[in-house]
Parts: sequence; C-alpha cells; structure tokens
Amino acid sequence: MEVSNNKELVALLKYCLMLDAEAYRLYNKISSSCADEKLRSFWSMMAEEEKEHVDFWKKAKELAERDLLPDVFEDVSETRKKFEKIHAKVQGMVGNIKDFSNMSEALSLAYRLEFYMLLPEFATMFHIFRTLEGIESMEEKYDQHISEFIAGLMKYGENIPEAEILGETLQNLWADNKRLAKESTCDILTGLFNRRGFFNSVNPISYLASRKKFKVAFLMLDIDNFKLLNDTYGHQKGDEVLKFVASIIENSIRKADLAGRYGGEEFIVYADCKDSSSIGILCERLRKNIEEKTEAALGISVTVSIGSASDFIGSSVEKDMMGIIHRADQNLYKAKAGGKNRIEC
Ligand code: GH3
Ligand code: MG
Ligand code: MG
Repeated sequence: MEVSNNKELVALLKYCLMLDAEAYRLYNKISSSCADEKLRSFWSMMAEEEKEHVDFWKKAKELAERDLLPDVFEDVSETRKKFEKIHAKVQGMVGNIKDFSNMSEALSLAYRLEFYMLLPEFATMFHIFRTLEGIESMEEKYDQHISEFIAGLMKYGENIPEAEILGETLQNLWADNKRLAKESTCDILTGLFNRRGFFNSVNPISYLASRKKFKVAFLMLDIDNFKLLNDTYGHQKGDEVLKFVASIIENSIRKADLAGRYGGEEFIVYADCKDSSSIGILCERLRKNIEEKTEAALGISVTVSIGSASDFIGSSVEKDMMGIIHRADQNLYKAKAGGKNRIEC
C-alpha cells in the first residue's frame, strides 16, 4: 500500500469519526431539551448508538495509522474529498438549528443527517472491516440504528408530511448500499470473499509481513470429482455442497485468517504462519473436517485436495505473494496426482 494512500485513509476515517460525532452531539442536545420522557429516551438512545459508531471509527483509524487496514477504495483520495464536503454540510446544518425542542424540526434535521450519512462507502467499510480483530462488526448495529430511527420517525413525526415515505426511502437506500458493498467483494453463493475481496484484504497484510518479516502461508483447496457430483446429484446439490464446504472452511480457520472462493470449486486461504508445522495441521484439519462433516450433514461423500506453501515476503511484495500462491497451487496438483483427498505442504 502506498504511504500517501494510507494517509488518505486515515484522513477519511477521521471524517467518518467527525460525522458520527456531529450526530452524537446533535442527538444529545435534542434529548436534553425534550420535556417528554419517551422522546428524551428515544434521542438519548440515538446518541448512545452514535457514540458506538464513533468508537468504531476510532479503532479503525488506529488500525489505519498502523497500516493494518486493507485497501478499501480504488481512489481513497476522491472518497476523502467527498466526505470532507459532507462533513462541512452536516456541520452547517447542525449549526443552523435554533430550537432543539421543536420535534418536527429536530426529526427532519435528523432525517437529513441520517440520509447524508447513508453512504455506500460506509457500507463498504463496515463490510470489509467486519473480519478485523478487535473490531466489533458494525453491519448489524447500523441496521438496527436505521430501523430504530425510522420507527421513531413514524411514531413522533406525525407533523412531518410523508414521514412514512421518507422512512422507506432510508431503509431501501441502506439495503441497496449493503447489497452493492457485498457483491463487489464477496461471492454471493458462499458468502466468502471473491477473488477481488480476498486480495483487497490480503494485500496490506502482505506488506506488513514484508516489513515485519513474518512468514505467511497460502492454501489452495479444490473439491475432488466435483463434476461427477454435479452430474450425479444435480447442480443444485452441487451449490449446496459449495456453500457447506465454504462454511466448514470459515469455521476451521482462525478469525485473523482469510478465506475466499478462488473459482468454481476452488478455495484459497491465507493463514498466519508462526511455524510451518502448524500449517500442515491446519491443512489436515480442513481436509478431515470437510470429509467428515459433509458426510454427516449432507449424506454424501465430499472430499478436497489441499496444497499449501509458506514463506517470508521480500521487497517485491505482490510478486513474492503470488509466488507463494503459485507454489501452493503446484502442491494442490501434486495432491490431486497423488490420489486426491490428501494434502501436500
Ligand atoms: P478434480 O477432482 O480433478 O478437481 O475434478 P473436478 O471434477 O472437481 O474438476 P473439474 O474442473 O473437471 O470440474 C469442476 C466442476 O465444477 C465443473 C463445474 O461445472 C463445476 N462448478 C463450477 N462452479 C460451480 C457452481 O457454482 N455450482 C456448481 N454446482 N458447480 C460448479
Ligand atoms: Mg475439483
Ligand atoms: Mg477445479
């Protein structure tokens, strides 16, 4: 990752943080000027949730400062500029409000604020950061926040024309953003990263591995005789098997490791590699889990062949990384040639 890119990402995350901090301040102010008990607790709940968002961005920013976040955007600088403008706009809006106790004014301001903050980039970041250690997943929390806000808008917004439509728009927009964020980095069938999502996440880790001189490992997994399985049980059953195998992979690796669907019935795993023997153990665990669990759950025999390779990453980071992946792939072919349902490390 370019250094300047990283600085831009830190700057971007700072704007995210400031946006949610602005919302936090606003909701707190509204809450404290509410006479009605129920309304007061509604706004203070909104404020509390914004505070959680602020904490999330704080942690993300710290990780970015340590160069531990994946490359999220192709042009992070453009995104940063966009967020800078939105922040200025939101600041202006909040600054203009005179009477915080006027409920329809407060709600309509909050609506505009939530609307501006319903950015596709938020959905993308929540989605990509969901696998990071030490960060709680924000996707569900944000869903809940939007739903609660909409419920409040319906309940307390009787003076706002079209409150219902406004609420629906908000919900739809967020659902679309989430879907787009997911589709661009994830494989729809299995929910694992697609190739692009996988390399987005693994690239910065490789740079870190190169600088900090720790070993990384890649595993390539390929389902054995999958064509025959499709021909015997049908394509739908094949899809079911793919989903199930993906879930076994995800549950068999550590949280800091990454798994992706590399192609049709082929998967890739990145694993931290403290010592090479641990990779052999991981491969064998994956192989065995897949053999045993698919039989137990789906009643058909499904096996995989696995090839792995591990190494340090030198100064040609991406080239070295692809070299390790290539070696893992060669080992996969050896495992296939050796009779399948086996590992080659
Ligand atoms: P090998 O043991 O050597 O890996 O043989 P194989 O049959 O698994 O490999 P091959 O490459 O000949 O066939 C892969 C099959 O995977 C063919 C393709 O139709 C199927 N496939 C690829 N993507 C999907 C998918 O999304 N769903 C289903 N059901 N099948 C898929
Ligand atoms: Mg295969
Ligand atoms: Mg294959």
